[in-house]
Amino acid sequence: MGVISMLRRVKRTVLPPGRSLGKTSKPISVGKGFAWPDGALGAVSLTYDDGLANHLELVAPELEHAGLRGTFYAHGMSGLLARREAWHALVARGHELGNHTLFHPCRSNPNILPDFDLRNYGEHRWCKEMELANQLLELVDGQRERTFGNTCWDNWIGPDDRQICLEQLVPRLFLAARGERTDEAVDPRSFTPFNLGTRCADGETFAGLRQNIEAAIGGGGWLILTLHGVGAGTHSLYLETTEHRQLLDWLASQRTRIWTAPLKNIAKHLIQSARNQ
Ligand SMILES: [Zn+2]
Repeated sequence: MGVISMLRRVKRTVLPPGRSLGKTSKPISVGKGFAWPDGALGAVSLTYDDGLANHLELVAPELEHAGLRGTFYAHGMSGLLARREAWHALVARGHELGNHTLFHPCRSNPNILPDFDLRNYGEHRWCKEMELANQLLELVDGQRERTFGNTCWDNWIGPDDRQICLEQLVPRLFLAARGERTDEAVDPRSFTPFNLGTRCADGETFAGLRQNIEAAIGGGGWLILTLHGVGAGTHSLYLETTEHRQLLDWLASQRTRIWTAPLKNIAKHLIQSARNQ
């Protein structure tokens, strides 16, 4: 089984019951009078994981060529400091650099080393690791306000019989979290900032993604796409370069209907709208 099909199989929309810090966070709502800015019908965020050189060399320039900006979730082992100036400049141009942990621990990856298995993480270890990852990111881009991109879309840590939901820990350190792979759009009328939900775009086609986006904005929603590499050889999970370029060109042509922006910008807008209603 390929990595892409394996990851598709780990999609979980039903949350397991937690025993300790196990309650998930409560949804909030923007209220009835909500409208997206500038007459847009809905929103899209393009999030790219793992801090790849490909993001600096190809993805960010292509986004900018289309007049768009994205979110880059980079982990601490991705050589951030070695390319500090390039990442700093990328953020200065309007992209978001988000927290993707220090060591990329996972729960749903069966090949993960025990040391990095989220089953072996506790509340304090997780928080300290994310705090340090935030400090590392701040050294790179000087920013203090951060969103979290869940590794492997996992939302629970700790042993199977004493799981802790990250929605209880994320608010201590982050504005919002991309959360689990739901393959659904975020509905501003009922959403959880600390587990927004995302659709995987790796291995997809432009036509399929356009259909997903149209369905999302048809319902007034916000579709958060997760991507890894762009182009073969950049990551085991990737979107073909031509499909990616078509997606960006199309989003640029739809800017009056679709607000495409980094996750942080849109999350802040929705959270503020929910507070003001
Ligand atoms: Zn990752």
